[in-house]
Formats: sequence, C-alpha cells, structure tokens
Amino acid sequence: MGLECIRGASLAPLNTFGIDECAEQLCLVHSDAELREALALADQRGWPVQLLGGGSNLVLAGPVSGLTVVMRSRGRRVVRRNGDSALIEAEAGENWHRLVVWSLDLGLHGLENLSLIPGTVGAAPVQNIGAYGVELCDLFDSLQALDRRTGALCWLNREDCRFAYRDSLFKQQPGRYVILRVRLRLHTRPVPRLDYAPLAAAWQALGLKQPDSRVISRLVCDIRRSKLPDPARLGNAGSFFKNPLVSAEQAAAMLARWPGMPHYPQVDGSVKLAAGWLIEQAGWKGHSRERVGVHREQALVLVNLGGARGGDIMALARDIQQDIERRFGLQLEMEPQLLGN
Ligand SMILES: Cc1cc2nc3c(=O)[nH]c(=O)nc-3n(C[C@H](O)[C@H](O)[C@H](O)COP(=O)(O)OP(=O)(O)OC[C@H]3O[C@@H](n4cnc5c(N)ncnc54)[C@H](O)[C@@H]3O)c2cc1C
Repeated sequence: MGLECIRGASLAPLNTFGIDECAEQLCLVHSDAELREALALADQRGWPVQLLGGGSNLVLAGPVSGLTVVMRSRGRRVVRRNGDSALIEAEAGENWHRLVVWSLDLGLHGLENLSLIPGTVGAAPVQNIGAYGVELCDLFDSLQALDRRTGALCWLNREDCRFAYRDSLFKQQPGRYVILRVRLRLHTRPVPRLDYAPLAAAWQALGLKQPDSRVISRLVCDIRRSKLPDPARLGNAGSFFKNPLVSAEQAAAMLARWPGMPHYPQVDGSVKLAAGWLIEQAGWKGHSRERVGVHREQALVLVNLGGARGGDIMALARDIQQDIERRFGLQLEMEPQLLGN
C-alpha cells in the first residue's frame, strides 16, 4: 500500500495545546520503509519536513508548510538480560507511558519516576525528558536514527546524544536526525529514587517495607494528576519554561534578597532555581487573558482557555519572560519547540 498524504490536515487533534493550525501535507508513518518513502517524496517535491510524535511539547505558531511526518511505528522488546540489567528497545511511535507500564509489568525497574509523561518514545531523547529526580539519560543506552544529512542509518550512544538538562544533540541540530528506535538499560531489581520530597513523603505514608516500583509509579501518577492539568480538558504543553541554572555566586546574591527562594545545587557547582516559584512571586499564577492563561495551581504551565492561537501563547510567554528579567535579572528559556510559520 502506498504512502497516504493528506493535504491541509488540521493539527488540532495532534497537539496537546489544541491549537488549530493546518499542515500543508501530513502523513502517518508506521515503518522505516514508509519513512524513507515520505522523505523521498518531500525531496522530490521540495517540501520541508517536520516531525511530530504526540505533539505534547509544541507551540504551533501558524500553518506548517511542507510535509509533517507523524511517527506511528510500534513495537517493543527485551533485547537481552544480563545479571542486574536488561536492555529493552522500543520503536519511536510507541506511547511513552505505555512503555513504562510494560517494563514494570515485566519486572524491570528504573522508569517508574517517568510515569505518565505524555508523548512518544522517539521524542523522549529530544529534550531528555525528566521528572521526580530521574532523567531519560540515566537509563539511556543508545538509539538508532536516520541521518538526513547523509541518508544513512546510525546508532548513537549516550555521549553522542550530548544530553543535558532538557537538551540534547537533537535540539542542537534540529531537523538532522529522525529517531527510529530507542534502547534503554533497566534494572532487574528495584533501585528506588525517592529524592523528590513529595514522592518520598507519599512513599513513607504507605509504610511499606520493601521497595516496589509499581507502587512508586502509581504515586508518581497520583502526584502528576493532582498538579498538572489534563490536556484533554485544558490544552497545555506541561512546563512552559526551563528551570534556570545560575552560578553559585548569583544564587547566593539572590538568596540574600529572597531567603525563601527554592534552590537546588547541582554536581557541576551551578544552582537550579524553580521557574514556577519565580513566576508565582511575580504574580502571574492564575493570570488569564481572553484565550490563554497561567494555570491556577501550577505557575509553570500556560493553558489554552479556548481557541488560542500560537501568537496568543507566545505573547503571554514573552510578557512573563520580560517581567522575570526585570524583577530577577534572569532570562527564562522556553521548553516547548515552536513549529509553523
Ligand atoms: C501535561 C504534560 C506534562 C508534561 N510533563 C513533562 C515532564 O514531566 N517532563 C518532561 O521532560 N516533559 C514533560 N512534558 C513535555 C512532553 O511530554 C515531552 O517533551 C515529550 O517527550 C514530547 O513527546 P511528543 O511525542 O509529544 O513530542 P512532540 O511534541 O511531537 O515533538 C517534540 C519535538 O521532538 C521532535 N520529534 C518528535 N519525534 C521525533 C523523532 N522520532 N525523531 C526526531 N525528532 C522527533 C519534534 O520534531 C519536536 O521538535 C509534558 C507535557 C504535557 C502536555
């Protein structure tokens, strides 16, 4: 069966902000062969190519020209188990949370803190997803990608991917690689990570003696559901800004002025600040405009109040950035990717 492209398809159901913009051409790809076919067609027609997974880390700024390729490949397997670890592999189009649940059902440990993050496996390395004290790079083994510059398939290991806080090679060289499948190294015994205080408190309240990764996953899901708006009801892309990293000196100077400021020293000597706290201090929590707003419970989340365009979201984001810069001298960096004209 040939590849099917849809002209002028609405992207509203394909992004969690629910922004209603169109793709000039859209196709769903389910295999490496279909992907190659789609890229060849785009080359032939001179269409620029954009990749889409679950659309949960995007702001659509306008119609998307060229070909939007939606990754829908499926499949996951245990490659091998040896001793204390197991190597698993999943296709790019797999749903991330379903992979987490599958791994826990197999008795494998490590992904529990990353439960319920929306989106696909293939997009997870792009921003090195992280939550509750764990980042993808902690469990990452390698990935296979199609290098669009050379047309060749390549395997990239952890160093190649240049992971950092919400950053990777794939953000630094956008458009170059299509991630096809990801390999993760999981533990065959529980290795609980309970450094995040609300998670540790919820765990302790249960009074369980043995570590249990499935219970931790359930607690993470409960905390996330209580804190974050469900995109099916209120369009959003999760945290809109990255937590700023500052030098120890800058953090000390800020702490002298705002002694209650949350701050998290990092292994490299820098200090991570909480963007949500800064935005809340500046009075933006619960702020609303005609079509967009800042979530009432979570200052880091911008929401679509109904019919928002990318421009509405970006205008609010810019106002918040300018205000934070004026008050705290810090530049907040946006976390989602901008797509469209
Ligand atoms: C309610 C909510 C909560 C969230 N919580 C978290 C959280 O706790 N931690 C966190 O890190 N993130 C979080 N996010 C952000 C988001 O879920 C992640 O960034 C996720 O990995 C995005 O996956 P996606 O498939 O939706 O990517 P998309 O939004 O579709 O794409 C994101 C970027 O990746 C590129 N891309 C997609 N697939 C591929 C591929 N196969 N190869 C190469 N590039 C590709 C796209 O071109 C785009 O640039 C949250 C989002 C929401 C809506």
